[in-house]
Amino acid sequence: MDLKSGVPFWQIKNGLLHAFPRLVEPVRCDVLVVGAGITGALIGDHLARAGMTVCVIDQREAGWGSTSASTALLQYEIDTEMQALAKRYGEADAVLAYKACEQAIGSLRKIAKSLRGVDFQSMQSLYYASRWFHKTRVEREGALRLANGFRLEVLDRAAMTARFGIDAPSALLTPVAAETDPYQLAHRLLGRIETHGGHVHARTALKTFTTARAEVRAETEDGITIRCKQLILAAGYESQTWLRQRVAANRSSYAFVSEPMPGQLGMLKNTLVWESARPYLYLRRTADERLLVGGEDDHYDIPLRRDARVAAKADTLRTRVSRLFPQLPLRIAFAWAGTFAETEDGLPCFGPHEQHGPRVHFAMAYGGNGITYSLIGAELLRDALLGKTHPCAELFSFARLTRR
Ligand SMILES: Cc1cc2nc3c(=O)[nH]c(=O)nc-3n(C[C@H](O)[C@H](O)[C@H](O)COP(=O)(O)OP(=O)(O)OC[C@H]3O[C@@H](n4cnc5c(N)ncnc54)[C@H](O)[C@@H]3O)c2cc1C
Repeated sequence: MDLKSGVPFWQIKNGLLHAFPRLVEPVRCDVLVVGAGITGALIGDHLARAGMTVCVIDQREAGWGSTSASTALLQYEIDTEMQALAKRYGEADAVLAYKACEQAIGSLRKIAKSLRGVDFQSMQSLYYASRWFHKTRVEREGALRLANGFRLEVLDRAAMTARFGIDAPSALLTPVAAETDPYQLAHRLLGRIETHGGHVHARTALKTFTTARAEVRAETEDGITIRCKQLILAAGYESQTWLRQRVAANRSSYAFVSEPMPGQLGMLKNTLVWESARPYLYLRRTADERLLVGGEDDHYDIPLRRDARVAAKADTLRTRVSRLFPQLPLRIAFAWAGTFAETEDGLPCFGPHEQHGPRVHFAMAYGGNGITYSLIGAELLRDALLGKTHPCAELFSFARLTRR
């Protein structure tokens, strides 16, 4: 699968941070994690810190999949508004999902701070009604979140103009958000797995696996065997290869990063911005004061078609941001596109699937806030392997897709 097109910023900015070795001889471990993106890195780190021997493999270089294409806005806000989730699953489960994401931002902050050399910045997040007829919907969303103890302000048109210079009828402003360099974060986590006695192998593809009563036996494309007690498939959007059930639909999202604009970002210096329309426009700054902009999602899952659209999509995104912030001298430095997958309800799937039995776990952190989900997945799978039940285990399981 070709996960991205164009020139993702994090690869340019960081280069190849570390070339983990290819796996060349058989290994045994407690847990084999397939995928060294941000999801596999967070899971491996949680398991290694819990005392398990971990082996992480990736068919590409570490972090070279969707993680390097991510814009990495860290938000507790799920693509599906809380009111829509409440309608589908009831208010208690909608609040459970949102609260888990809110806590995940704090946990990601702690993790980033515990590692050296990770760009991570706490931010506020602004969700604005980008259509006049979304005004009431956004206000209702704010009221529901306030009633459930979330910290946020509901802004009216006057406040939006005065504080942000955006002409929008209503908006929600929350202080719980952050941004990071996801490729760097993944690499630092993988490094820490090694310091805990784990192994990380790049350019090592899982070809097949078989499950027995007491173990899973995996084989790489190079014919090397890995025997483990538990297998975790954190293979991003390629995880679907291992499932007959279709749990998500693939989409493409487009992004660009501007040239640096030192001292000119104003409120964007500490604010993530996204809108109520779908697909939505989303933007943040970078540590070197560029603007990182994403959106214009489409249903193309064919790399050649996606590749051909990168320049035009970036131009549309630039025009849209220039309309919002006409004072910014916005020039595109690098543009790219990436595949992402969406479940119907916007929630992720973590845990075993009946197709493969209890020793094979999936980590499908699918959604616009995929990195927040990755953190929850890491906690949930660690708890499961330790024999504990995470509060989101049922809601984020495959079972909800059929039962609910
Ligand atoms: C343009 C774009 C913008 C985004 N913006 C945001 C955002 O602002 N905020 C947010 O939270 N999320 C965002 N996301 C989503 C987020 O980036 C993803 O959820 C996250 O990067 C997924 O990480 P992952 O580790 O699950 O997948 P990946 O990074 O793709 O890692 C999976 C790894 O598995 C490996 N693999 C696959 N199959 C095999 C195999 N058979 N053997 C060995 N290895 C294998 C791959 O090589 C890959 O490296 C965005 C995504 C895109 C594309």
